Amino acid sequence: MTDVPNLLNCPECDNPLKTEKELRKGLLIECSACGIENEIISLDPLKLAPLEEEK
Ligand SMILES: [Zn+2]
Repeated sequence: MTDVPNLLNCPECDNPLKTEKELRKGLLIECSACGIENEIISLDPLKLAPLEEEK
C-alpha cells in the first residue's frame, strides 16, 4: 500500500491540508495557504470542494 495518493490537497492551491479531526462528510478544513475553507463532499472517493464565500 505505497501508492495511496495524497488526497487531502487544497483544490484551489494544491497545498497539503491537515486536520486533526476525523474525516467525515461535511467536515470543513481550512487551507493554511490560501485561507479557503474546503468541505469534504465525499469520502469514497475522497473529494473536497471549496466553500464559496461571498464578500
Ligand atoms: Zn489553498
